[in-house]
Amino acid sequence: MSVFTGKVAQGAELPQSGDNTQVMRILVVEDEERLARLISRVLAEEGYAVETEANGREALMRALADEYDLLIVDWMLPDLGGVQLVKRLRAAEVGTPAIMLTARDQIEDRVAGLDAGADDYLPKPFAFPELLARVRALTRRPWSEVKDGAILGAGDVTLDPVRHVVRHGGETVDLTAKEFALLATLLQRPGQVFTRSVLLDTVWGASPEVYANVVDLYVSYLRKKLDGDGNASHIRTVRGVGYTFEPQPGAR
Ligand code: CA
Repeated sequence: MSVFTGKVAQGAELPQSGDNTQVMRILVVEDEERLARLISRVLAEEGYAVETEANGREALMRALADEYDLLIVDWMLPDLGGVQLVKRLRAAEVGTPAIMLTARDQIEDRVAGLDAGADDYLPKPFAFPELLARVRALTRRPWSEVKDGAILGAGDVTLDPVRHVVRHGGETVDLTAKEFALLATLLQRPGQVFTRSVLLDTVWGASPEVYANVVDLYVSYLRKKLDGDGNASHIRTVRGVGYTFEPQPGAR
């Protein structure tokens, strides 16, 4: 057994919080052994159950076969690169949140990572408090405040926070973790306008490194998945302010 999971591997010592939170499982996919070890130790000290994998293809198999709460994925990996890894997971409808680590800090690379389905991006070298902040932001569940797992819905869209299912006009819509969190936030108060900064804070944990138009980017992803061609959008832009969910009557 890895020394890094020592603290959380003992069932009797699982951190218990009032709301019965379970230990978060994180898979660190990083081929630099020393860095992987460091990240594992820092996360384990914070109470996360951490596993590591150095090979991209092996990591894909593990992430497909097992349930993790978060993936931390290096950009350059043996056999299968980080971007391809996340892309294949999303193609297989695995929405586990993913943070990309990379030495590259070009804006195009960030967009490539986010387009592939990554939820956040952290340039190397990074400070560990920064990594921990990102991890906390991505493992937060803004929709978990919904009482008794009540299903959210407005118009022809419903969202089940417990089963993690979104339906539009009866059809299931596949969303990534961040798209789901964004929609859940908007659906908690249909018709209310949410500012970009509130959405950034609620869904992304207001990480200062997350560039501000990530909200716009994800709204565009949601629209692509929710709105039919030529129909009015479910998410209305309130110019200069932010966004609001606007219920649409079912087209069928
Ligand atoms: Ca690497």
